[in-house]
Amino acid sequence: GSCEKIQKLPQNQYNEIKHVVGVMSGKGGVGKSSVTALLAMGLKKQGFNVGILDADITGPSIPKIFGATERPGNHFDYLLPVSSATGIKLMSINLLLPNEDDPVIWRGPILAGAVKQFWTDVAWGRLDYLIVDLPPGTGDVPLTTMQSLPLDGMVVVTSPQKLAQMVVRKAIKMAAQLDVPVLGMVENMSYLTCPDCGKKIDVFGPSQAEEVSFREGIKLLEILPIDPKLAELCDQGRVEQYETEAFTRVTL
Ligand code: ADP
Repeated sequence: GSCEKIQKLPQNQYNEIKHVVGVMSGKGGVGKSSVTALLAMGLKKQGFNVGILDADITGPSIPKIFGATERPGNHFDYLLPVSSATGIKLMSINLLLPNEDDPVIWRGPILAGAVKQFWTDVAWGRLDYLIVDLPPGTGDVPLTTMQSLPLDGMVVVTSPQKLAQMVVRKAIKMAAQLDVPVLGMVENMSYLTCPDCGKKIDVFGPSQAEEVSFREGIKLLEILPIDPKLAELCDQGRVEQYETEAFTRVTL
């Protein structure tokens, strides 16, 4: 029904944001946050001004992946995002908590309220893309979160397991219900390249990406391999040192 639709919150006086793109996954653990980081990095390499709004309030991982520890400053009543090593603007609940391992034990409406404030009360400035790392899944929390931000489009992250196909369909239906276009899909952890012989190993079975993309009529943006180097750099907060051309050719 119409109550499901996203209400378009206006931008505050400091913001001039051209595109707000949500990154969603039908389920957890497919690498949604890592892909959010790679997408932001790719767009940055294309010369765009990029920010990441970490809307995964109960499982925030953006500051950790970028090694951001600085506390956000403020400008009058507005919070200032933290800048990453390459100049990507970041805002996350983890940058505001006294300890980064403090759990956030809030109920749905409060979570949505926090996310909304990352839009209304943060002075992002001028951005070509604000990438939103949404909470995983297709349940109430991701739904409410999506409704609290003026998303222009969605990117769906998936992995090659059979199960993930169904989950992609759920995510697509959810976006449709909210009247938000799906701009594309990304298959993460698609294969592993043997470091000795260079052979591609389909760890989770053969890639479903082309087929799902065709069937659902959704653009396939990237197929990303399992790469221990990426996991290591994410763990060390140095994702921006990852050598990749991912998302350097996509337009959203
Ligand atoms: P999600 O946001 O979907 O829960 P994360 O992005 O936090 O997933 O990733 C989960 C774990 O998998 C992290 O340890 C991350 O470093 C790792 N990971 C994600 N994508 C890849 C990849 N392509 N290759 C290797 N490790 C990956």
